[in-house]
Amino acid sequence: MSAIPTTAGPRELDDFGRILVHEHLLTAHEGIRFQWPHLVDARAELDAAVAQVRAAQAQGVELICDPAVLDLARDVRLNIAVTEATGLPLVMATGIYGQHYTFLPHYFQTREVSAMVDCFVHDLEVGIQGTDVRAGFLKCAADEPGFTDDVEKVHRAVAQASLRTGAPIMAHSHPATRTGLRSLEIFVEEGVDPAKVMIAHTGDTDDLDYIEALLAGGATIGMDRFGLDLFFPEDRRVAALIELCARGHAGRMCLGQDHCATIDWFPADVVKQLAPDWSFTHIFERVIPRLLNGGVTQEQVDEMLGASVRRWLGA
Ligand SMILES: [Zn+2]
Repeated sequence: MSAIPTTAGPRELDDFGRILVHEHLLTAHEGIRFQWPHLVDARAELDAAVAQVRAAQAQGVELICDPAVLDLARDVRLNIAVTEATGLPLVMATGIYGQHYTFLPHYFQTREVSAMVDCFVHDLEVGIQGTDVRAGFLKCAADEPGFTDDVEKVHRAVAQASLRTGAPIMAHSHPATRTGLRSLEIFVEEGVDPAKVMIAHTGDTDDLDYIEALLAGGATIGMDRFGLDLFFPEDRRVAALIELCARGHAGRMCLGQDHCATIDWFPADVVKQLAPDWSFTHIFERVIPRLLNGGVTQEQVDEMLGASVRRWLGA
């Protein structure tokens, strides 16, 4: 038994069956929201998040991990409001996404790694944004620009905060440039147990040699962008997942959509055009039936939505 901090207070992980490991209530640029608040419709954002969470609950989802951090407009009060409206607990994150996956704010550029570590530990041990809701995991990102000095610095800070608190880590990755391997290597260099590491977005490739290398390194992998064909087509996501299940890896894979109930990165109509099927429930409606048809068992599906997530979160 291990307890996890949520927006509904600390809860026993074993109490949760179906878990979505990677969905966002809100993805936005926090500077724009601060400078031009007239652009923000808080009511519409809350309604959109509540609607997605309720749809997921109708599919049996009992817990959602929301990896919003600095640069994604993490807002614990929104998450608390969604939990109050729906009854569904959310696990929050702490960490830094990185502007354009490249650089840190000057604040952290000009300070030691320990300044970042202290902020992350604050969220993990005290609470987020003045509340007593603590973060349940750490988050950082590497993408196409690779491991700039700042990206490496965040990775080391996340690792050190994990060592201090025992919190697990989720790393956004760019499989086309195999960033997951370097992220994992940095965490392990710092002394982190790879069982605590999830390499998110690994499903954006069907390069099975790369995926097997991550698994051999001890990481859990996120097959967490179903509905985002613009990054990788669904047919190839499904085929790779079926093969990895056949190879016995269901216990190290987690499913999700990386959906954002609200995202300001594009005008709303462009989001609809780019990802028409994207939602908190796409996997239940369109993907899981294809997995079952392809030879994946219901037990493996349940594992990827349950035990795999609990093992990583509780590691
Ligand atoms: Zn995400």
